[in-house]
Amino acid sequence: MLLPALDWHPQPRLERLHLDWLARAGIEVAVLRLDRIDPLISGNKWFKLVHHLRAAHEVGAEGVMSLGGAYSNHLHALAAAGKRFGFPTVGLLRGHPQETPTVLDLNAFGMTLHWLGYGGYRERHTADFWVPWRVRYPDLYPVPEGGSGLPGARGCMAWVASAREQMSALGWTDYHGWWLACGTGTSLAGLVLAEAGERPVYGVLAVPQDYGVAQQVESIVGEAGLSHPLYELFDGSRGGFARVDAELTTFIETTGVIELEPLYTGKALMLLKARVEAGQFAPGTRLIFVHTGGLQGRRGFA
Ligand SMILES: *Cc1c(COP(=O)(O)O)cnc(C)c1O
Repeated sequence: MLLPALDWHPQPRLERLHLDWLARAGIEVAVLRLDRIDPLISGNKWFKLVHHLRAAHEVGAEGVMSLGGAYSNHLHALAAAGKRFGFPTVGLLRGHPQETPTVLDLNAFGMTLHWLGYGGYRERHTADFWVPWRVRYPDLYPVPEGGSGLPGARGCMAWVASAREQMSALGWTDYHGWWLACGTGTSLAGLVLAEAGERPVYGVLAVPQDYGVAQQVESIVGEAGLSHPLYELFDGSRGGFARVDAELTTFIETTGVIELEPLYTGKALMLLKARVEAGQFAPGTRLIFVHTGGLQGRRGFA
């Protein structure tokens, strides 16, 4: 039953972020806490799932199957939602069986797991990848890795309304842009669509520059028919996805006012610091930093 999940509309809180390097530059930042929408179903991955779940419901599916790695925030959010709202979930995993904290959770949430190896996982973009899985699970709806594409982006558009509703409580009358981490760029595309050129969205790439994030954003925005998207991408992967160096670890440890993980949110805030200190933003600029979650994936990682 997917209907109870579609009736859940969590509101992420908007909170001021006080850091000395922001204060020195006269920049104000508020954080949209996607990491705190729920104790188990966390982060941008819930919002990226919503319209996929709606599509699943509309075709009469009972549950959902999807793909990810052994630390996947996407599979974690999906499995947690399946458990909470009572719909079956199947996870197709990259690589060979291993028991990460994430995988233990997936099992505990009742997700059925299949390990595809590395070669098998690489086949996921081929046209007939889902055919045997649809035969095996005719009542489950396939969702792409990470909940990407236009349906994924549409779910993230809601963040703009959430933030605007809460702004006056922070004493803000307006804001000048958004700052967030990008993996596929789907979340950023959602913000770009919702802003429709009114305010810029700044994305920090957590993956190498040749991963096609800009193309993905352009494709989503084009499919939605927005002709003047306003966004900018920065290279923030620090040598590759999931590469963690001492400077990053130290930054996360010393930024005690907010919990960050090293793959996305830590890299995103660290690059904001660099851009602020390089004078990219005039004093008085107000930015909304999206805490995209991911704290579960950090367990047993660094
Ligand atoms: C998946 C993920 C992202 C990247 O989101 P995209 O929509 O793929 O750009 C950012 N932060 C966290 C914590 C994530 O889990």
